[in-house]
Amino acid sequence: MQVANCVDCGTPMQRVNYGYQSGIVLDRCASCKGVWLDHSELERVQIINEAWEASQADVTKEYSGLLQKTAQEAAERFDAAGREGVKAALGKTAAYRLYDFIERKEG
Ligand SMILES: [Zn+2]
Repeated sequence: MQVANCVDCGTPMQRVNYGYQSGIVLDRCASCKGVWLDHSELERVQIINEAWEASQADVTKEYSGLLQKTAQEAAERFDAAGREGVKAALGKTAAYRLYDFIERKEG
């Protein structure tokens, strides 16, 4: 397949699969990082992005209550120890990362 040159800098472009497995192949310039796509490719990228955002919203909706409940239980259980105590008690576990994430979100 003929590889086009970058419109901006003239470097031959690489063909990359958008989102690893979308089947949408885009031309990307390795030199200036420009990405070139025709109208139908742009439309397909937008459709994939919208579907991805919608699926993320579903995941958030499905788990946000559970996440809040889990964090609240953890906070209550370890309340006496204080936040640093909670982190120490949880260690470097998934629960620690969840607690840390929620704490950061709450500010
Ligand atoms: Zn370029």
